[in-house]
Amino acid sequence: MKVLNLTERNMASYQIDGYQTLGEKFPFTQELLALMNAAFSAPVLSQNENTTTTIEELLEQTKAVFSKHYTTNLVDYCSKEQSLELERLEFALTASAKSNETYDEFYDTRRKIITKKDPFDLPLLYYQSEENTGEIATAYVGIPLQNHIHKTKKCYNHIILTGYLNPELAATYGHEITHALVPIGGCLNFQYSELLPIFNEKLVAYELDPTGELLKRVNASRNKALVKSLIKIFDKNPESKYEIFLHYVYIQSTLLATKLFDMYINANDFEKQIIISRIQDVFDGKYPVEALLHGYNITFENSCDAKTYKKYI
Ligand SMILES: [Zn+2]
Repeated sequence: MKVLNLTERNMASYQIDGYQTLGEKFPFTQELLALMNAAFSAPVLSQNENTTTTIEELLEQTKAVFSKHYTTNLVDYCSKEQSLELERLEFALTASAKSNETYDEFYDTRRKIITKKDPFDLPLLYYQSEENTGEIATAYVGIPLQNHIHKTKKCYNHIILTGYLNPELAATYGHEITHALVPIGGCLNFQYSELLPIFNEKLVAYELDPTGELLKRVNASRNKALVKSLIKIFDKNPESKYEIFLHYVYIQSTLLATKLFDMYINANDFEKQIIISRIQDVFDGKYPVEALLHGYNITFENSCDAKTYKKYI
């Protein structure tokens, strides 16, 4: 692969809970530039306004797609107030850390506070808006100085959805549910953290509308976000380093997810089942998403493929 002599940017290294490594170099290759060209010239679809569906019906549709394909493991839950309480305790203990501290009190309190929930039972906050967005409020609770991934818990407070009441929101919900299903260690590199959520938002759209119209809309929204991220990394007045870093995360995850999804929809039923069961293995904590990518020989380099990408915008 020919690497162009353009700015090759190092992604800043940030310590983010639950991930081992962050960022590599980001080469601007001919392939990536061709793909960017395709992304920039794709048509922008306007949002469909409300359909007659209620929010409950939409969420049920997402749940039906997930139960058809996956086993949804229970996840750790506590309210926002409870996770703030744990964070306060965590902070106080860290500030007065002694070398022989066992933190039993902290882990006892945490055990009492955190409960298990089906991700589809996480509290949901919805408000209608022109913009389709989703967010899952997540707290990483553990003693930072111990810095042990296995001692940190990923704990969910609630899911927030905004947008019109239309099936695109069902896909966004599938994205957020997937975030909840990936356990700590299920994704080692932070830049791939959006990969399975983006894959599953496409899967939900693909399953809910056999005409392909919904998938087209979901892909168009994802492309719009990709273009925005690409513009931001070239911005002469950049946002904070962390914001820029997040744009790299979305760019890489979007391209890798598109590659994996392309493989999925072109596969026969048996191969499709294998791809899904490998994703289930990631949800079950058997191996990280990186192993799945390795198994299918999916890399950032071969995901920068304008021909494949064009099929999905
Ligand atoms: Zn996400």
